[in-house]
Amino acid sequence: MNLRRLIGIDNLSSDYTYARDAETGYTSSRRIADKWVPTTCGYCSVGCGIEIGVRGNRAVAVRPLESHPVNRGKLCPKGLSEHHTIHAPNRLEEPLLRKHGKLVPVGWDEALDTMVDRFTATQRRHGRNALGVISTGQLVTEEFYALGKLVQLGFGTSNYDGNTTLCMATAVSGYKLSFGSDGPPGAYEDLENADVILLIGANIAENHPILCQYLEANPSKTVIVADPRVTKTAMLADLHLPLKPRSDLALLNGIAHILIRHNLIDRAYIDRHTTGLDDLARFLENYSPAKVCEITGLTEDQLYKTAFLYGRAKAGFIGWTMGVNHSTKGTETVNAICNLALLTGQIGRTGAAPFSITGQCNAMGTREAGFTSSLPGYRKFDDDAARQELAVLWNVDESRLPRKRGLAYPDIVEGAVGRSIRAMWIIATNPLVSFPNQSVLRQALSNLEFLVVQDGYHPTPTTELADLILPAAIWGEKEGTYTNSERRVSKVNKAVEPQGEVRSDFDIFLAIAERLGCREELYPGWRSPKDAFEEWRKVSRGRLCDYSGITYELLERHGAVQWPFPEGSQPNGASRLYQGGRFQTDDGRARLICADWEPLPEQTNREYPLVLNTGRTVEHWHTGTKTRAVPILERLSPESWLEMNPRDALGLGLRSHDRVDVLSRRGCVRRVELRLTEIVSPGQVFMPFHYFETNANEVTQSAFDPISREPNYKQCAVRVEKSQARLRHERANP
Ligand code: SF4
Repeated sequence: MNLRRLIGIDNLSSDYTYARDAETGYTSSRRIADKWVPTTCGYCSVGCGIEIGVRGNRAVAVRPLESHPVNRGKLCPKGLSEHHTIHAPNRLEEPLLRKHGKLVPVGWDEALDTMVDRFTATQRRHGRNALGVISTGQLVTEEFYALGKLVQLGFGTSNYDGNTTLCMATAVSGYKLSFGSDGPPGAYEDLENADVILLIGANIAENHPILCQYLEANPSKTVIVADPRVTKTAMLADLHLPLKPRSDLALLNGIAHILIRHNLIDRAYIDRHTTGLDDLARFLENYSPAKVCEITGLTEDQLYKTAFLYGRAKAGFIGWTMGVNHSTKGTETVNAICNLALLTGQIGRTGAAPFSITGQCNAMGTREAGFTSSLPGYRKFDDDAARQELAVLWNVDESRLPRKRGLAYPDIVEGAVGRSIRAMWIIATNPLVSFPNQSVLRQALSNLEFLVVQDGYHPTPTTELADLILPAAIWGEKEGTYTNSERRVSKVNKAVEPQGEVRSDFDIFLAIAERLGCREELYPGWRSPKDAFEEWRKVSRGRLCDYSGITYELLERHGAVQWPFPEGSQPNGASRLYQGGRFQTDDGRARLICADWEPLPEQTNREYPLVLNTGRTVEHWHTGTKTRAVPILERLSPESWLEMNPRDALGLGLRSHDRVDVLSRRGCVRRVELRLTEIVSPGQVFMPFHYFETNANEVTQSAFDPISREPNYKQCAVRVEKSQARLRHERANP
């Protein structure tokens, strides 16, 4: 606090003066804008339309874009304060290169020359795949498309993945196995039209708040929420199923068992559009209601009620997010969700869908156009015709396209531990907060010969370890498109010019390609993201994610449209995949898949008697890089906490607001505030994962879904101790 403030001369009047805005009337003078720029929210995958108020070259306010089809004039707390992310004090404005142990400012030429020299030298010594690249769900689709080409064809490494593997890879794998392709089948409007809505591991009231207005608009719904915690979403439910941690797969199998036994299945749909019923029916005999209730901790009444409600629904919707995805059984749990939809024909109709609610604003864009889990346009790596088609479109030899997927994110990290990965490029993500079992990651990064981090902010826990940091433009400073959870493509626009030496990720990729000598080959005639979009329209033509009819002009006119949108289409209400019951498999039929429940990968014992669940809070976004720089959000939720049931606290002699340490076999999180609450059941504790100084991922485990490679963030065994007791113990046992 300065002296003027201390002695009362400065009463912050400039912060509180009002002025008259032509459109909104009296408002804070700081929020008066000269112009409003329409764009799409850059946090979550709901994809709300938003306008940025600009005065001079500063973003001074935001407001919901009234005409946008997704949010209908509303925003959540993150969206309402998003302009603060642009001018945050920790924005990075120039490249920084580590010299003699210190990060020092350098020009772009030196930065990019060094990056390309070091990466290519490492590749010459250790092979092309010695370079690992980890990107994000935060870039625009045009940048993902450009980056995929650069990594695979320019640098020639297939060890490229995104932090979307920490989030939605499980939904991708599940869709591919059940339906033959990635792609969420439903639309948000289904939440308005379904008569039964089953949400599994999906706390939308906290994590996708604007979706709740679709629930509110549905007068005749029954909402069932399956979640071990009494989340804010569970509080909205007609029926809450407080199942034991990760018993969701058993629950789903139990529901399917009852549907078949009570003939609540759609035989005509199954016969025409699926394979595998006989095997599934035999397999499900193992999931009697009694056994399922023993595994889940639910009552038979709760189980039957759920099965009958869903089985008798005219339109049944099943939504899920990280409670399902963050599990070693995640992909199979998605398959079990898809089984329910297929058994009852609850797919491809208004209100009826199995529906993954995605995490980041453009995780969908990297799934469609990126090069990670498939070739662009959902082309399979081993599909010769699709490979040939892509090679012709790009005018490259087909042999340059990878035949199989490279290492997934956790395997790139493991590769660095084992030194098969020697250099790494991390783009717009902060693994030093988000990756599970941080000690493994720290070891991996310390082994690298050269680490480049490209980000809009510095310092972050990850940029601090970099050898080179590239300053990138963020939301509000660049142009392109995002795709939301319901396949809706929205325009993203530049409201302000980036400060200092900051460049868009798109421009950085083009400049790197220039140095690699492949700019014209990869990006022929490209000058702006629109050039990439025009090529992407051609590459996606005829694919499930067909963008060929979408243009920037159409998006500006109509706000946003859902793919598939082939050339000649007109915006026309909500669209759904698989309306005719034809799937993306070779025979056009969806697969009914047998997926067996298993116990948690890490069991509790006397030393670690509690199951830790991790998740989010509405005020913060993922690793907090952006939201913790937004004053109002940081004031609302300034530090982490641990939720514990009062009965467990009694046994441990703990009281509300005590500072506690959370310990697992892998590490410890110190001095977390304890909150006693019935939101969690006895034997379970919960902690949000946004806070680097009390990072929940110090204790989470290196257990991954064998199919999607997504981490099992949601359950690990811990014990909780009062912090001072821990300190005394350490003093006595140094
Ligand atoms: S719900 Fe998601 S997209 Fe909408 S304003 Fe909030 S963070 Fe942004």
